[in-house]
Amino acid sequence: MESLLFFPQPFPDESLYSLAVRYHRLAANRSYRLKSQELFGTYSRTCGSILPCCLGALSQRLGAGYPVVDLIERFTLLPLYRPFVDDTKYRASIITMAGSDGTGLKMSLGITASRFLKHASFRYCDRCVREDVLKFGSAYWHRTHQAAGTCICPHHGEVLHALIFPNGADWRCMLLPAEAGGTPVIHSLGRTAARSIAEMQFWGLGHPREVHALFAGNFLRYRLDEMGFIKSGRIRQQLLAAFLASPLLCIPDATEFQEMTSSTDWVFRVLRPRGVVQPLKFYFLCWLLGLDLEQLKLFRPKADYLSEDLPGGNHAVNAASEGDIEERRSAFCNSANLKCHEKPGYLWLYRHDREWLKQYVSAHPFIRPQTTLIDWEVRDADLARELMVANDRIMSAEGKPHKVTRGALCGLVANGHDFLRQPNHFPMSIALVDDLLESTHDYQVRKIKWAAKTYLLSERCAISVVYRFAGIRVSQVSDSEVINLLRGGEHLC
Ligand SMILES: [Zn+2]
Repeated sequence: MESLLFFPQPFPDESLYSLAVRYHRLAANRSYRLKSQELFGTYSRTCGSILPCCLGALSQRLGAGYPVVDLIERFTLLPLYRPFVDDTKYRASIITMAGSDGTGLKMSLGITASRFLKHASFRYCDRCVREDVLKFGSAYWHRTHQAAGTCICPHHGEVLHALIFPNGADWRCMLLPAEAGGTPVIHSLGRTAARSIAEMQFWGLGHPREVHALFAGNFLRYRLDEMGFIKSGRIRQQLLAAFLASPLLCIPDATEFQEMTSSTDWVFRVLRPRGVVQPLKFYFLCWLLGLDLEQLKLFRPKADYLSEDLPGGNHAVNAASEGDIEERRSAFCNSANLKCHEKPGYLWLYRHDREWLKQYVSAHPFIRPQTTLIDWEVRDADLARELMVANDRIMSAEGKPHKVTRGALCGLVANGHDFLRQPNHFPMSIALVDDLLESTHDYQVRKIKWAAKTYLLSERCAISVVYRFAGIRVSQVSDSEVINLLRGGEHLC
């Protein structure tokens, strides 16, 4: 095995593939096969991967300056996965990447199952290309741009482009960014989300320990609790799924995000992980829950985060400048109509300015927008009027009289019998109904009057005849009453 006579000086956040391409150019190799032999001592099929193998051989060729772990942590995307895998799996991944056979690596990290791989592309930022050429003399592939779900440059906020290798070739043609045509990876939709996720992923790539502290410290669960999605220690799944429906409409239109829109089941697998959580899913869920990079940086595990009694618990105040505090307070105060934990800077103020936050929140309680209360008195009065009209209609109806009963009255008002079940709300109407109900005696009197008028009955008619015309079987009216009623008529039998 021969040491390499030269190797490109790595640029900031440069990928291993990018270093290989630049080596290829410097060595003026004619083919990838030759270059691969020189670098890896074998034909590497994974040089273009985000998790390349054969790095043990490369490390040996590069000498003491490049231990395998350094190559992996500086030039590959394995550190992005570091917070989400245990030590055993991480060490196994390093061993696999050091060896020449990477079979099963992506499967063990859950990348294959995530189906993000099929959306992978070689991505670059036009502004990075221009600036890198000016600053370093060459464009190069940025490692963070290649992470699944990174669609916007975290440095410039510009949409990344996916390189289209010419003539159906793949990465083996050893191109640098923008050396062939590229297409934007997102279009109009979801730029805000894409930028926030890209910033979080870039930070996570460089700070795996901090992200592990977030993940192991139940950062997302704390956020759910803060948002009211935890009750009695359990996640309120239906409520959370309903809440997520709205932000899921604003997601980036890059293809990998489409893998996460058909269902929210993946959210609960991130919250209750059984296997490896994909970094993109973690950061995407952070965004869905209204979190950004700043809140990730500020989080401390709950044990000390909520401990009011910790000695020197307010020491963080000293770490924040007065200007910072004033700025955060002002932003917090100016966000009206939001619950306190939804206002910008809540977590920051909780950490750095807790006393002020407590006082402000207690002096400015969130007033829930009042839904219009029902004015039951008005409803009762309206219903009473309806009942009066209904009574008039029954009493003045053409033809044979109908008795004024509850059923007859309720049948003529808008809400039928419902109000009778709410006596507290309709006291006037219920009392009115009781007053309007017609006794059998009164009803029979009305029927006799109607019969006398309709059939021209007089006091000379037999009472049994009057009852027959009036439709009375069991009389509640005395004979003298009937005669008096008939005297009121002018007609003869
Ligand atoms: Zn850029």
